[in-house]
Parts: sequence; C-alpha cells; structure tokens
Amino acid sequence: MKYALETLGCAKNQVESELMTSALGACGFLYTENAGEADVIIVNSCGFIESAKRQSINAVLELRKEHPDKKIILAGCLAARYAKELRESLSEADGVFESLNASEIGPWLCDILGIEKNDFPSERLPPGERRLLSPAGSAYVRISDGCSNRCSFCAIPLIRGGLRSRPIEDVSAECRALIGRGVKELCLIAQDSASFGLDLYGERRLADLLRAILEIEGDFWVRILYLHPDHFPYSLIPVMRQDARAVPYFDLPFQHASQKMLRAMNRKGGAKEYLDLINILRNELDAVIRSTFLLGFPGESEADFEELLDFQLKARLDWMGSFTYSREEGSPSFALKNRPGKKTALERKQRVDEAQSPITHNRLARLTGSVQQVIVEEETDAENGLYIGRPRCAAPEVDGCAVIYSPKPLKNGTFAKGLTTAAAGFDLQIRVS
Ligand code: SF4
Repeated sequence: MKYALETLGCAKNQVESELMTSALGACGFLYTENAGEADVIIVNSCGFIESAKRQSINAVLELRKEHPDKKIILAGCLAARYAKELRESLSEADGVFESLNASEIGPWLCDILGIEKNDFPSERLPPGERRLLSPAGSAYVRISDGCSNRCSFCAIPLIRGGLRSRPIEDVSAECRALIGRGVKELCLIAQDSASFGLDLYGERRLADLLRAILEIEGDFWVRILYLHPDHFPYSLIPVMRQDARAVPYFDLPFQHASQKMLRAMNRKGGAKEYLDLINILRNELDAVIRSTFLLGFPGESEADFEELLDFQLKARLDWMGSFTYSREEGSPSFALKNRPGKKTALERKQRVDEAQSPITHNRLARLTGSVQQVIVEEETDAENGLYIGRPRCAAPEVDGCAVIYSPKPLKNGTFAKGLTTAAAGFDLQIRVS
C-alpha cells in the first residue's frame, strides 16, 4: 500500500515524519510524495498553539473532501495531546495515532487497516539512513526530545514530556552517516538545544556534542537551532572559533524584553543580559542572531511593549519571528487574567514585524561586496544560470534565500561560492564566477 505524508509544525516534527517513513517501509508500505497516488494519507500534526491546532484539523477536513475514498490518519502532537477527543469528534480521520514513538506507526497502521503485518528488516533504517524531507543537501538532526523548562505559556512539555537527550555517540553516528551520504548541512534541533545532556549526563554537553560532530571529516556546515537564551552555553564559543564548519548562527528565542513579562513567562533573563549575549557572540564570532517574540501575554502593558520595541532596535536581530499569545489549557499561564486581547496582540505583532523588516534588510546589505558560501537548493533556470539557495547566514525554511547567478552548472545540495552583489528584501544576490 502507498502512503503520503503531510507534515505540519516545526523541524522536530519533520524528523518525526522522516522516522515514520523508515517504520512504515519496514512494514512494506511504499512512500509517495503524491497524495493522489496514495492509499493512506498521514497528517503529522502540530498541537502547540491555537492556530497550529486549527491548521492540523483543517488539513484532515480538506484531505477528506479531496480524497473521500482514501484512509486519512492523524498523527503527531495534536493527536498525542487530544487523542480521546479527536477519536470521538473527528470522524473524517480513519485513525488517530497518539504515540510519540514513530517506530510504532507501521504495525499500528496494519492493525487499523486490518492488513497482515509484513516485516522488511532491510527497510528499518537507522536515523542516519532515513529518508530526508528537507531541502536538498540539508538535514535536521534531533539531539533531544521533550523539555523541562516549563515556560508558562508553553504546552510542549505537556505533549512531549520532560527533556530526554540522545547519547552523544548516537547523534554523532547519525551525523557521520548523513555526511557520508552527501548531506552538506546538519541542523541540530531540540525544544531547547542549550539544555542538551542535562538529563543524561547531569550537565549541559552541547559543546562536547559539537566537538564530536566536528571530528567528522568533510566539508559541511553545522547549525544549532533553538537555544534557550537564559542558559546559553558559552563553552560553544571556543569550539566554534576553531572550526569554520560550525556556523556562528544562533537562534535565541528571547520571547520578550520586559522583565515583568519575562518573569510572568517563567524566564530569568532581561533586556540587558540579552543585549550583552548578542554583543559577545557578534564580537567573538561575528554571529548571526535569530529570535522570536511573543505578543499579547497576560498582563502585557503598552509600557512593556515599548520596552520590547526599544530592545528590538538595540538588538538589531538578523532574523525575527513573532507569535501572538495562545491560551493553552494545562500550561501554567492558562489561568492568568488581564490578557490584552487578540486585536491588541495582532497590532503589536504587526508593529514588531514592520520594525524588523528594515533591520533584517540592513543586516543583510552589509554583506554586499563580500564572498559568500551558499548551499544550492533549486535549479530555477539552469539554462540562464539561475539557481535558488541559501547563504550561511540563513537557516532552512525560516530565513531568506540566495538568488544565485552562475555561468557554470550547479548541482542541488552542493556548496558554491560567489560575490554578493546586492541584498534584495530578505534575500542575497550572489554571482558565482
Ligand atoms: S523552552 Fe520553553 S517554550 Fe521552548 S519548548 Fe521548552 S517550555 Fe516550551
């Protein structure tokens, strides 16, 4: 039987989908990118915030309308969080896979479909050999699952449980296998990469993990995403300084800058600490900084918001994402009163987004005239030497891209080097000679 996957939510969920393809393959299911060809369509959902939940439900409803004769399965975080309610209310789904262990989906699906469980051990691939659903040349490597930080607005610990780090040997073996098959960029991901190892080794060991990965020979990038800024591992800096393959790109979700708001979010930092961190990383590593802001948290006053805007101007982030507060049952902030309301939250989101555009553009424009290494992701018009890719300063799927002009043919999933001729909006124009 053929199956297709629709992956929603974050990069960690994409790794889940990739691991599911190994588990399904081991039971004899064949993967297809084309839902029209599939017998079964699996929606790997997100259950993090209201808008994500709605998107996941709508995906099932739309697929049911489009494919009335196919089996529609709901998996992922939303399924895990609301399995009972969904089984009772979402009749459009033929099954709700509530386990967060991707390796169980194969046998489970056989039971749901009432078919014999076949076993194809050669298809039960180790993480480093799994099918990748990322852009060409890039792979996400999940270094831990779950989170023990308990930010008051967040439902993820309720869904994925407390922090569970993978052994350094397992992660570096996966990286070695990925590099061995030609992957050029490893993006290390977790709910909070900065806490890596705390559960397993009793201390934060992200720098040791990075060191182990950098022992692998080859020309590749290592990028670390999702670092909680309140416990940033400064031990990363000397490791990164010694090896240019470690991309000095830091995704630090500050969420806010007002101390009152950060404390209400159960966070320990503040505007001064965060600015100091940014300055240290830029001075030491000429780092690129991405962050995320949360607007409309209960108790957020206009003065708190002004503090955030002021911080945003001083921080001059390279990339920024923003969300409005979603009241999540079970999260510590659920009972908090005095919410500014959706309209105000959306207005504040719009103001930070508008304020960020020129900042991001100017941060990119300073690269004009410099030679940049890019990863080629797509042939747009190879005949005329036009390709799309990504510079080192941009993470996959969330940041801008590189428009690449090359007189010689370029291959997707490989590196190229070229002169930055301009910054256009959030993208760089690169001319390869
Ligand atoms: S660090 Fe905070 S926001 Fe991120 S997953 Fe953990 S609890 Fe949620």
